[in-house]
Parts: sequence; C-alpha cells; structure tokens
Amino acid sequence: MNIIIGMGSNQDYRGRNSIEILDYAKEKMCKVRIDIIAESEYFTSLAYPNGSDPVFINSVLLAEYSGSPEELLFELQGIENYFGRVREKRWGKRSCDLDILAINGLVLPSISEFYYWANLKVKEQAMKTPKQLVVPHPRMQDRGFVLKPLMSIFGNWQHPVFEKTVAQMLDSLPEEEKEFVLQIK
Ligand code: ATP
Ligand code: MG
Ligand code: MG
Repeated sequence: MNIIIGMGSNQDYRGRNSIEILDYAKEKMCKVRIDIIAESEYFTSLAYPNGSDPVFINSVLLAEYSGSPEELLFELQGIENYFGRVREKRWGKRSCDLDILAINGLVLPSISEFYYWANLKVKEQAMKTPKQLVVPHPRMQDRGFVLKPLMSIFGNWQHPVFEKTVAQMLDSLPEEEKEFVLQIK
C-alpha cells in the first residue's frame, strides 16, 4: 500500500535536535519495512495553538508499506516512544509526532466516523482523541504545515473523501495558515 506520513518535532531529546530526531526516525522506519519513496524538505512552522512554544520542524513522506493499517500505527508509535514521546496535553511540545495522513484511498474506520472527527470543533479536538485509527488524518486539510510540504512532493494526490487535490486544498486554505510555514534552505 502507498502511505503518506506527516512528521513533526519541536523538542530536543537526549542531545538530538528536531531535525536530527526526524532524520533518525526515517532510518527507523526503513527498519520496520516502511519503504520511503519520496520525502519533502524540512519546513518550519509556528507551534499550534500556542505560538510561544518552540517552532516546529515538519516534513511529509510518501512510502510503501505491506502490513496492515494497525501495524503501521503500532510501528510509528514505537518510533515516537523511542524518542521519549509523552502525551501530556493535546498539541503540547513533542520530540516526535508521526501521523498517518493517508493509506491508499482508504477511509477508516468508516466515512461517518471520518466526518465526525473532521467536523469536530477546535475546542473539542483539544479534548477528544480517537481510540481507533482515523484515515485520512481528519485535520490534514486544515494544516499548512501538512499541505505545503505535501505539495512539494505529491501535489496531485487526491483526498478520497473531499475529492480535492493537495493543490486545491492548499488553495482554499487561509493565508495565515500558510504564511509562516517555510522551507528550510
Ligand atoms: P493531531 O492528531 O491533531 O495531529 P497529535 O498528533 O498530537 O494530534 P497524538 O497524541 O499523536 O495526536 O495521537 C493521538 C491518538 O490518535 C493516537 O494515540 C492514535 O491512536 C490516534 N490516531 C487516530 N488516527 C490517527 C492517524 N491517522 N495517525 C496517527 N494517530 C492517529
Ligand atoms: Mg499530529
Ligand atoms: Mg500524532
């Protein structure tokens, strides 16, 4: 299966900075049969929702994976844990966040569940976390730090629910979601 993974970090861990963490996370993915096909450059973005947290480094990957969606989530969480990921508060500082943005054209666990999570108000999003894997990632369409890097490697990928390409989703995004997401030279 073709998969798209979003990576983010805004906290050092045991002497590694965010870029070193994400570099190392990619090496670890290769070891668990996540075969990277294309990867974006690193981008910086202001931390959400608290702009005073350290800036984020983000990147997205296109990869091939032959296990199940649940196995993929398990492997990615294993890598997050290696970097000491602790889940204290939603969207708090983190050394390594690996999100499954998409798996082929799959919608999981169901279209109605997908819409429930995608339509959740921001306040509720901060308090509720899905126990099951939700794919496509229910907030990817709202995030400049996902769509800008994805645009650079796979602009014509089409969202299976909204039936819009990355380019179209990026176009509909308000300027303030995009202007502070910058590729690192
Ligand atoms: P956001 O999902 O808004 O980016 P987050 O990445 O900080 O927030 P996490 O704490 O990393 O959220 O994930 C919370 C839980 O969401 C995980 O334990 C995981 O089981 C579940 N989850 C559901 N769908 C996905 C997905 N597509 N990718 C990663 N985790 C998911
Ligand atoms: Mg995330
Ligand atoms: Mg996550």
